[in-house]
Amino acid sequence: MTKSTEEREVWFLTGSQGLYGPQTLRQVADQSRQIAAALNDSGLPVKVTWMPVLTDAAAIRRICLEANAEDRCAGLITWMHTFSPAKMWIAGLDALNKPLLHLHTQANVELPWHSIDMDFMNLNQAAHGDREFGYVQSRLGVARKTVAGHVSDPVVTARIASWARAAVGRAELRSLKLARFGDNMRDVAVTEGDKVEAQRRFGVSVNTYGVNDLVAAVDSTSDAEVGALVKEYQGTYRLAPELDADGARHDSLRYAARIELGLRGFLDAGGFKAFTTNFEDLGGLRQLPGLAVQRLMADGYGFGGEGDWKTSLLLRTLKVMSTGLPGGTSFMEDYTYHLEPGRELILGAHMLEVCPSIASGTPSCEIHPLSIGGREDPVRLVFDAEPGPAVVVGLADLGDRFRLVANEVDVVEPAAPLPNLPVARAVWRPRPDLRTSTEAWLTAGAPHHTVLSSALGAEELDDLAEMLRVELLLIDADTTVRRFTRELRWNQAYHRLAQGF
Ligand code: MN
Repeated sequence: MTKSTEEREVWFLTGSQGLYGPQTLRQVADQSRQIAAALNDSGLPVKVTWMPVLTDAAAIRRICLEANAEDRCAGLITWMHTFSPAKMWIAGLDALNKPLLHLHTQANVELPWHSIDMDFMNLNQAAHGDREFGYVQSRLGVARKTVAGHVSDPVVTARIASWARAAVGRAELRSLKLARFGDNMRDVAVTEGDKVEAQRRFGVSVNTYGVNDLVAAVDSTSDAEVGALVKEYQGTYRLAPELDADGARHDSLRYAARIELGLRGFLDAGGFKAFTTNFEDLGGLRQLPGLAVQRLMADGYGFGGEGDWKTSLLLRTLKVMSTGLPGGTSFMEDYTYHLEPGRELILGAHMLEVCPSIASGTPSCEIHPLSIGGREDPVRLVFDAEPGPAVVVGLADLGDRFRLVANEVDVVEPAAPLPNLPVARAVWRPRPDLRTSTEAWLTAGAPHHTVLSSALGAEELDDLAEMLRVELLLIDADTTVRRFTRELRWNQAYHRLAQGF
């Protein structure tokens, strides 16, 4: 189960002004407390902390600076219950570096037709108070999500929850440390990228460690620890008889456990929540880490194969965003196709490293040869992915910026059993169809390594991209290649202009 490294919260700010007098401001405070309480009761992934009503520029600037400084604060929700002249917000919004959600709501659902008087009008004027606030945000170029509607509407709270998840993911990414064992796979282009720019834009720090530092950690694990972990494997998976205690290859399972203990210990000692491996650079490791990587992913660690640190940081971020949701999130690679006309499917997998959080049923723990890497046969978990809607996301470095591309897909049962395929896999139908999806994906230059998530959807990704100010291209049921290609061209122009010269 994934946990973020720190408990996060979002702050609820209510804008007003001194002109209304203490009695009205008390009502504003009471009602905005009720809105914040309703949000807390709606099952948001983080706590909403109500803050005293803001009536002047100095207080607004101060709370924005405090939000910046407080690591627990993942973002701000703002609501102008009354009219809050927006020049008061300029200094604060200018200083703010946390995600913002502008909630356009009001205390009452129904307009009290028979009793409404000027006192009511005076108190309940978000309809124009929020327009004033929207103006100044647009004038300042503040990236934000705007959500309109009453907080009793589940659509409204679901959209706020999506934003809150993205805000928690962003907060995690700001402080993420990623360890790479070895460099990228030789000659591969798309797994390269600008690690300095990644740290500036996302906050993540990406550093490489000699794989023999890991080997030392693996070799120093105790037999007792190994024995205890092997017992856990026996109780958790369907273990192949040859791997079991009296099986001919039990030593391979014990070595796989040693890798897990060493890897986990190394990562935890350094505060790393994401990592990469490279089969070309295994040092003294006797097996390519398979089972260990799968189990670490299931515990919320980010991972990318072949040195792919961008997919690893994306996996960690999306795992934190999906905490508590049904479904799973895994490293994935588009592998091969079923091209029968009208029934096209993608089979996704990797050499070994697919996360069991997406498994349907209990994975089996097996050992098979690996035709790549030239080491001993690695132990791995084998399973099919649980059918259902999902999203596949890739992160590419285009040289002048990062680009996210996502495809809404439907994971399905394999058309037939796959008895000879010794790796975990997912079979999916991309929306709107394989031809459009793959033509759009390739036109965007999106990568072959991805994250597949059945826990998150397009809205959470959109919210994350907005917060990170990263381009997101979505391939969904409405996509046509023609429109998608034009969107790419427009985005190219927009992102170059937005960066300045
Ligand atoms: Mn790969």
